[in-house]
Amino acid sequence: MLKDSLEGWHRGRVILIGDAAHAMLPTQGQGASQAIEDAEALGAFFESISETPSADALSEILENIFQARYARVSLIQAYSREAAKPAAAKKTVTLRPDEFMKFNCMYRGAKAWSNEEIPASA
Ligand SMILES: Cc1cc2nc3c(=O)[nH]c(=O)nc-3n(C[C@H](O)[C@H](O)[C@H](O)COP(=O)(O)OP(=O)(O)OC[C@H]3O[C@@H](n4cnc5c(N)ncnc54)[C@H](O)[C@@H]3O)c2cc1C
Repeated sequence: MLKDSLEGWHRGRVILIGDAAHAMLPTQGQGASQAIEDAEALGAFFESISETPSADALSEILENIFQARYARVSLIQAYSREAAKPAAAKKTVTLRPDEFMKFNCMYRGAKAWSNEEIPASA
């Protein structure tokens, strides 16, 4: 994971998503898609909420969203940085480009992701 990615995205009733939460270099063209995936996560984790949640309940939902999204988006951030380095630089992300395209594009939503495992080589 990226050493300096944010340790949390939410406080009180507010959560950061998109570039504000995880700005990344354009070397994979994944910044906007990750913002859209964040928006899907908001929808998925709030879909069963019909009344205004308590502060504690809201904080728990926002933490669940963060937990569902953090590992995936931090890895994509890290790979975008690696892709920007000269070819001779030491690589720390071990997926091949074709594997990473699959990782980027075969996403089925935040709740499905929460039940899946990150590829062992990621
Ligand atoms: C050259 C380039 C190419 C890219 N290509 C791709 C690509 O191919 N695929 C991809 O997925 N991503 C790509 N990206 C990344 C993508 O554009 C961003 O990741 C995405 O726009 C982030 O969306 P966002 O809503 O989080 O932030 P933004 O799109 O930056 O939206 C933030 C908005 O908030 C507004 N704002 C800021 N401050 C305030 C304020 N105080 N009050 C009110 N409004 C405010 C801004 O004006 C802006 O409209 C590219 C980025 C660049 C720069």
